[in-house]
Amino acid sequence: MPKRLKPGLVPGLFIITIIYFALGFVNILTALLAVFCMAIPFILLSKSGKKLWCHHYCPRASLISLTGKPRARWHRLPKMFTDGYLRKIMLWYFGLNLLFITGSTIRIAMGAMEPMEHVRLFIALPLPGPLPQLLTTPVAIPGWLSHLSYRFYSMMLSSTLLGVALSRIYRPRAWCAVCPVGSLSNTLLKKTPIVRE
Ligand code: SF4
Repeated sequence: MPKRLKPGLVPGLFIITIIYFALGFVNILTALLAVFCMAIPFILLSKSGKKLWCHHYCPRASLISLTGKPRARWHRLPKMFTDGYLRKIMLWYFGLNLLFITGSTIRIAMGAMEPMEHVRLFIALPLPGPLPQLLTTPVAIPGWLSHLSYRFYSMMLSSTLLGVALSRIYRPRAWCAVCPVGSLSNTLLKKTPIVRE
């Protein structure tokens, strides 16, 4: 008999988000772990037919639950959060971001472009210089790999900052109303009948 999970997020998972960003200062290649953060929600969904990640395991939801304002000061979410408008914009933003990341990484690997070895927030706001690195790799990292790592780090940092800001402005998990991973999970749940044994 499978063990039933307690309702709500597993406590303390916010530490994973903090460790992820801290590891960027150890070696930027660790930013590639973002791939797991993007894949695991859908793997769990396909196996269980439930949004296990969103309901129990999401480290970002854990962080914004911590940073969010207390219930007595919550604000109602504006209509664009609940009518699907902002959700669509975030899905486009996320999709375009992934497209830019893939395209620029391929161009760099082909020698058609210089790598961008710095953090760039919200696709458009560059932060000065590369992150300080505590550990360097024994062999030189190819430019495209370093670029890819910085792009993932930038994407994760931008969306986390947005999530934290919304948690302070409206309520702890306001970001979840427009999060692309949550939106895609909802769409898949509606469209794909998941067969369980
Ligand atoms: S909607 Fe996004 S941020 Fe919220 S729990 Fe799901 S994956 Fe995490």
